[in-house]
This record gives sequence, C-alpha cells and structure tokens, in this order.
Amino acid sequence: MLADKDRIFRNLYGVHDWGLKGAMQRGAWDGTKAIITKGRDWIINEMKASGLRGRGGAGFPTGLKWSFMPKESTDGRPSYLVVNADESEPGTCKDREIMRHDPHLLIEGCLIAGFAMNAHTGYIYVRGEYIHERERLEAAIEQAYEAGLLGKKNKCGWDFDLYVHHGAGAYICGEETALLESLEGKKGMPRLKPPFPANVGLYGCPTTVNNVESIAVAPDILRRGAAWFSGFGRPNNAGTKLFCVSGHVNQPCNVEEAMSIPFRELIDKHCGGIRGGWDNLLACIPGGSSVPIVPAAQIVDCPMDFDALKELKSGLGTAAVIVMDKSTDVVRAIARISYFYKHESCGQCTPCREGTGWMWRVLTRMAEGRAQKKEIDLLLDVAGQVEGHTICALGDAAAWPVQGLIRHFRHDIEKRIDDYAANPHSDSVLVAAE
Ligand code: SF4
Repeated sequence: MLADKDRIFRNLYGVHDWGLKGAMQRGAWDGTKAIITKGRDWIINEMKASGLRGRGGAGFPTGLKWSFMPKESTDGRPSYLVVNADESEPGTCKDREIMRHDPHLLIEGCLIAGFAMNAHTGYIYVRGEYIHERERLEAAIEQAYEAGLLGKKNKCGWDFDLYVHHGAGAYICGEETALLESLEGKKGMPRLKPPFPANVGLYGCPTTVNNVESIAVAPDILRRGAAWFSGFGRPNNAGTKLFCVSGHVNQPCNVEEAMSIPFRELIDKHCGGIRGGWDNLLACIPGGSSVPIVPAAQIVDCPMDFDALKELKSGLGTAAVIVMDKSTDVVRAIARISYFYKHESCGQCTPCREGTGWMWRVLTRMAEGRAQKKEIDLLLDVAGQVEGHTICALGDAAAWPVQGLIRHFRHDIEKRIDDYAANPHSDSVLVAAE
C-alpha cells in the first residue's frame, strides 16, 4: 500500500484546509521559483524522466507532449496552456476532488507547466455540472493572485494569468479540440487533426491541453525528483495514480495508489472487498465506461496499469474502476452505456451519429431477448465499422463496450434470446435505457 509520505494528494477527502495556508502547510508552492529558475529544458527533461503518462485517459507521455510546444514564438503568436477539467466519463470523479480539496496543487502546476511551454496564459475548462468545484477553484485562484503567486511580476518569476471557464455540460467538450472550440465560444464539435493543437490550437495559437491530475502532480514530481515518481509502478507505467472505485464493492472510494497495484489488492485494501465476497465478482470496467469490460477471472490478479489492461484488450483510461457483481444484468448495463454515447455524440460524422443509436437500439432488444442470434455478429461488425472511422475518439468509446460485451458475454446474450424464444410473452423484459 502506498505510504502516506508518498501521497501527492494529502487532502483528497477534504478534511483539512483547502485554502492557500493549508496547501502551503502540505508543501504546495514550496520552491516554485527555484523550479522555474532551473529552466524550461530541465523541467521538460525531468517530466520525461518521471515517466508520467497523461491521466485523462489516453496515457500519452506528459513531458513529451510539453516538448512539442515551440520554445520561442517566431511568428508573434502566443502559446496557451489549457487544462481539461471537463471530467465527464461515467465512473470518473477524481479531478473533482482535486478542484474541491486541493486546488492549489493544480494552480501551481499550471504556472510551472505554463513556464515550461512558454505560455503566459492558462485556461481551466470546468465541466458544466461542477458548480461548487468552479467556485472553489476561482476562490483559490483569487488567493494566489492576492499572495502574488500569479499575475504579472509575481513572486515565482514567470508572468502568468489563469482563467476558469465553465462549460455547459456536454461530454464531448472533454475531447481536446471540442474543448478548444467551446472555449472560443463555438459549438463543442471536435476538429479534424492534423493540425494538432501544439501547432494550431486555441485561437489558432500553439496550445497544450492537459488533464487536471497530470498538471496537479507536476510540482511534486519536480520537487521530489523524477526518480522518486518513476519508482512506483512497473516500467512504462510509472507513478502514483488516483483510482475512483465504484459499483459493487463494500466501500466505494477515491484513492491515490501506486500504479500497477493488483486489482485484488486495490479492492481489498481500500474498498472492503467485493460485495458478497470474491466469488460474487462478475466483471469490471477498469477505466471509465468507454473501455471494454473484463471478466472476473482475468481482472482479479491484473496489475492496474496501462500496459497490463491493454493486454486484456481493455484499458486503464481514467482509472475509474466500475465493479460488477453477479447481480448485474451485464447486457442491460452495456445497453445503458450505449445510450450515453448515443446521447453525447455531436453528430458530425455518420458512423458515430448513426452507429451509436443503432448499437443502442439493438442492444436494448438483446437485453430483453428480442433479437436473433445472427444479429450478434452483425452488431460486432457495425461496432468495428464505427471504431477508428470517426473524427474523434467518441466513436471508439461507443464501440469498445459493445465489443467487450460480445467478446466475454456472448453466451449471456444467446441465452437471453433462447429464453425469450421459448417464452416470448414472459415479462422478464426490462430495458428502457432512457
Ligand atoms: Fe462527433 Fe462522434 Fe464524430 Fe466525435 S466521433 S466528431 S462525437 S460524431
């Protein structure tokens, strides 16, 4: 289990002071100027050496991402840092706790990341439903300005202004280019890439979009050293990580743990075990609703990290671990997830706009048994045609849960179809996903 001294988020549960004084007592804003004095190259190299991979889901190396930004502006365009706080992936509730209870870690991280990428301005794009979090963040930013830690000629030695932008509650605005569109005041619709934001981002200027957790851990990595951070987890899966465990465990929780902690250890040590015991575990969605489901036998001893879960044809995603025991109607659960993606599709591309609704309707019938067995392969085929054929990753996010369901629970769907065929008037029918 991760020792308390190695935790970055020491006020995750909000029992201490969230404000500047409390944050400073926990180590925030300590030696920020000294970090900046070491220079841009040192910071980026240290971030690369730490092995930090983006905590927003994709797992792209953070230091490498920072290095894509131009070191100096050669054409007069400013650079921007944008923090993606549009946390909307079902099951995910980690950035929320950072903004509520430890906002200064994020603010300090923004200043340092801004310096490393030659950005004098940063925007934090907060999910529309996060009203309390936005208010807390704004109050913390005000404290930082008052203390001379932000703004022009601040004590840290890098002019930096930070703004909070409140979204309107669309999941798709968590996609980085849709977020930029929304920030510019337009409809939140993803852009075609390339060009990538590091070249043409916010207002046509070089921009890096990072997740809240990725930015909030940066100051501690730079204070304690890359070697300290990379000492946790397996190679290529370094560091500590916030896990959000929900579903059929005895005590759902958010917890910071070492990356690569085995699933069983995570659940036993922090969540009081599986409801009804380990024999009652059916499956787990390990990284937020978009990653494929993993059956019990495969997940129990799996290290919770990017590479191990990829080998199981799933993913760590946002580390939102959704646990399902044997009382779960797994077909209905995935049908409900399908409805979510249908609802959140921005409608720009045909495979996503039409495919998400089509998959949801077929799955809804399958959950009731009102389908033919040959439709299972047809559904798989359609999911494959959505995956990888769209402008943004929402198409993949809609296809993967369906593929995971068929990969591991085809027999459940078939049984339901058989049961319905044997007794078509049975009132076991249950789905109305809306
Ligand atoms: Fe919009 Fe879906 Fe296309 Fe993404 S994949 S751009 S959400 S229609």
